[in-house]
Amino acid sequence: MTAAPATLDRIRRHLVGLRMPRSLEVLEHLLRQLERGEISALEAIDQLLDEELSLREGRRVKAALNMGRLLNIKTLTGFDFSFQPSLDRNRILTLAGLDFIDRHEVVHFLGQPGCGKTHLAIALAVEAVQAGRSVYFTTLAELIGSLAKAEREGTLRERIRFLCRPQLLVVDEIGYLPVVAGGGNLFFQLVNARYERGAMILTSNRGFAEWGEVFGDTVVATALLDRLLHHAIVVRIEGASYRLRRHADLLPDSSAARQVHPPEPQPRRRGRPPKVRNPEVTAVA
Ligand code: ADP
Ligand code: MG
Repeated sequence: MTAAPATLDRIRRHLVGLRMPRSLEVLEHLLRQLERGEISALEAIDQLLDEELSLREGRRVKAALNMGRLLNIKTLTGFDFSFQPSLDRNRILTLAGLDFIDRHEVVHFLGQPGCGKTHLAIALAVEAVQAGRSVYFTTLAELIGSLAKAEREGTLRERIRFLCRPQLLVVDEIGYLPVVAGGGNLFFQLVNARYERGAMILTSNRGFAEWGEVFGDTVVATALLDRLLHHAIVVRIEGASYRLRRHADLLPDSSAARQVHPPEPQPRRRGRPPKVRNPEVTAVA
């Protein structure tokens, strides 16, 4: 089957007019396959549209990842579950079904540095973007910095409204850096605004009992945990650092074993742990 040159020209012009560059690119190749009888006309149309759609989908995902500040991409397929046997793989795969986003739940990843908290948080956020959900990624320090700046400039309401827009907000690294004075209060205003309205993923190397210390204010920590544990899924990663494992591989066996499996740290409790109102918490792993 050979297409008339005039028809072919018109198809090319249509593809340009319709802004379908990828289809234009593959047109010749598909026509040759068609002429050789390797594919049917229906298959040719199907592939022409499929190529265009894949290109657009790829662009959409790339733009959404940039907008959501997901720049250092991690995936679930890139996560070695065998390295973290304490982690329930099926539970993570269920989270990747993204129902927690529709239910406006809060997922907490808790564990020592390097155990994969940020990796899993980003991987779930990437799944969400691919499924067409809006996502925004930030660290607690950046988030509080941006809220404090907005407050100074008299635009706190707008900033909170902006941070309420994404269906999933990831707040990474709670507990690594001390929260500046008044920071807990600003974070609380955001958490309160998103409460039961938008999903969050939080990562922390500190237990909930230590949040008073993290935020330098037990009253704010209690109010925060009250909201953040109400509809929550808590994933505790008990294993060792993946970063250290790589390093430990270079060490002699005896010291490597010590590096990979450090003793479980005892939770540090200073002062009274914050009380939590009726938490509906699903503990995982
Ligand atoms: P955390 O946020 O808990 O400190 P990260 O998620 O940043 O740790 O992990 C540290 C590094 O190790 C990252 O590069 C991450 O991709 C990698 N990593 C951690 N756990 C795993 C794992 N189980 N499989 C593959 N890579 C992992
Ligand atoms: Mg991290």
